[in-house]
Amino acid sequence: MEMNSANVEAIVKQVLESMTQTSQKSSTATIPKMAHVAMLTSLEHFDVKEFPIPEVGDGDILVKVEGCGVCGTDAHEFKKDPFSLIPVALGHEGTGEIVKMGKNVKVDSAGKPLHIGDKVVTCMIFKDDPSIEMFDLNKKNVGGADVYGLLPDDDIHLNGWFSDYILVREGSSIFNVSDLDLDSRILIEPCAVLVHAVERAKTTGILRFNSKVVVQGCGPIGLICIAVLRTMGIENIVAIDGNEQRLAFAKRMGAGKTVNFMEHKGIEALSEAVKEACGGQYCDFAFQCTGAPAAHSNIYKFIRNGGGLCELGFFINGGDATINPHFDLCSKEITLVGSWVYTLRDYATTFDFLKRAQAIGLPMKELITHKFPLHQINEALETNLKQLGLKIAIVNE
Ligand SMILES: [Zn+2]
Repeated sequence: MEMNSANVEAIVKQVLESMTQTSQKSSTATIPKMAHVAMLTSLEHFDVKEFPIPEVGDGDILVKVEGCGVCGTDAHEFKKDPFSLIPVALGHEGTGEIVKMGKNVKVDSAGKPLHIGDKVVTCMIFKDDPSIEMFDLNKKNVGGADVYGLLPDDDIHLNGWFSDYILVREGSSIFNVSDLDLDSRILIEPCAVLVHAVERAKTTGILRFNSKVVVQGCGPIGLICIAVLRTMGIENIVAIDGNEQRLAFAKRMGAGKTVNFMEHKGIEALSEAVKEACGGQYCDFAFQCTGAPAAHSNIYKFIRNGGGLCELGFFINGGDATINPHFDLCSKEITLVGSWVYTLRDYATTFDFLKRAQAIGLPMKELITHKFPLHQINEALETNLKQLGLKIAIVNE
């Protein structure tokens, strides 16, 4: 087609029109009066309730929710309400677009500018400790802090990401992640757990480029663990699980070898199989990513003398595990670190991890195996409880 001036004029007009349309879209004019919030009102039951969208204070941010991952914590709350929060708006692995913000909001928690239309995630609120240093590694993780999606209900109600709007209040930790796509943004929170675990592992001084590493458990946590190790350039990774499908995924995430524990009877046979997969030696470092006490007892057998172990499988109390302190720990001189949740610094590191993982072709997005609309939240939680997929997500249209 010839680009005469009439054509150019028409195109310019079209572009300008579409631009004004988008700016109107993100302006206050199209914000509805009511928000939809999935409230857990009784055990194993969410009601999607309507609440008025409140005034946005000078330091507040109103976010239109695009999606939110279902976490193990949500599943525990759904099933047993261990935190006694019912009625509660759940969902803490969420992300969305800023549609309105107070005049005092200028930058995110990392100092990056914030504007209407930016895509954001929250992290934790440190109401009691606003001066927390995000670049002070391991100074603090989220223990005891309030998290959107686990807040007690209040008169605002827009407290969880299983919703179509959330009000992020002044003093909250929020990050501008506009350079990540929706699926990556939904994966930030679980990935931060692994960035933190690997940082903990590095403090032992044992994890190196040429280390032979065992990752036990190939649920989302183990699979992301493999991905984090791969983006660091670690080549020799052996994945252990009892499910062939998950082991096949582990290979695509970067595990060189896999061991199916169902095929080996007894710990001796299993540790022989792991040794063989590690090239005839026990591993230098192991990550324990299951919540089974027996898996904790077993993993010492796979580690060489002087090796290291990061235990990260027990987010919640899974019961006691038996080890033989002499054989498993002392005589082998194992260096053991525990890992739980993450720090704010790890959260920011995770954004770059996700870009690196994508750049080297890891199938991160395939971790999200199921997507449900908000009104099917009960089905989403049931799917999670039945362990039918890997990551389940609520995605608003
Ligand atoms: Zn979570």
